[in-house]
Amino acid sequence: MQKIAEDVWHIDTLGYVNAYIWRWEKGLTIIDTGLPWQGGKILKAVEELGFKPEDVREIIVTHADFDHYGGLRTLRAATGAPVYVHAIEAMFFKGRWRRWPNLRHPLGLLYLPIHTFLMLTFARIPRMNPDLLVVDGEELENGLTVVHTPGHTPGHIALLGKERGVLFVGDVMVNRGGSLALPPAMFTPQPDILKQSIRKLARLRGVEIAAFGHGPVIREKAGDVIRAFAKRVAPPPKRRPKKAPTRAGVPRQPKASPAPKQSSGAEKK
Ligand SMILES: [Zn+2]
Repeated sequence: MQKIAEDVWHIDTLGYVNAYIWRWEKGLTIIDTGLPWQGGKILKAVEELGFKPEDVREIIVTHADFDHYGGLRTLRAATGAPVYVHAIEAMFFKGRWRRWPNLRHPLGLLYLPIHTFLMLTFARIPRMNPDLLVVDGEELENGLTVVHTPGHTPGHIALLGKERGVLFVGDVMVNRGGSLALPPAMFTPQPDILKQSIRKLARLRGVEIAAFGHGPVIREKAGDVIRAFAKRVAPPPKRRPKKAPTRAGVPRQPKASPAPKQSSGAEKK
């Protein structure tokens, strides 16, 4: 367990994926829940900090991938805490949508049977009605602001703790040992929309610490690192050159027709 800011901890015992604990006046918020067998490890982390499962007041899942919702069932049962997801992402939990590998990806079809096996067995999404559906810009009582960041999944969220300067990035980007990278293309069906989300995170101010779904936490000047990454992988689309300014509201003048030749008898001589 690593303290990454005052009252914020990184549960670093999960290996492949990260989860976080955010403490506020009313108790703890768990951000992401690890792989399907890792709910117990997260509870252990809560206890290591000296808290009881009942102190967990909320569980927020950044998106509906099994490395992020895996421990959800265990954690919900042990803590009784409500589950928050983005209003769009709830469609996966309600069983209306399914998450598939990107079949346009060269390896998508190859991975499809493995994915199907996982989804039908231990990595199955917990069918539930999430307790709170959050939307972009929503300021939660716990001090976190929801930042809707679709692309990797349609209802993916990042969470910004403005006062503590902490951004929970989810899988908008991953930290590969010190350099940022895009999430796996096979599981990112909308890469252009993801780029918009990267730019959206780059526009946030006051981000000192970035906590990723995968890879180590960036502990200082994370906003600058994210902006440099955004500039590299998601430069803003080129705008068409501006046309010469026109006066708004003034109707275009009809093309001037050549002035009629003035002819008068006086000219004829
Ligand atoms: Zn992930």
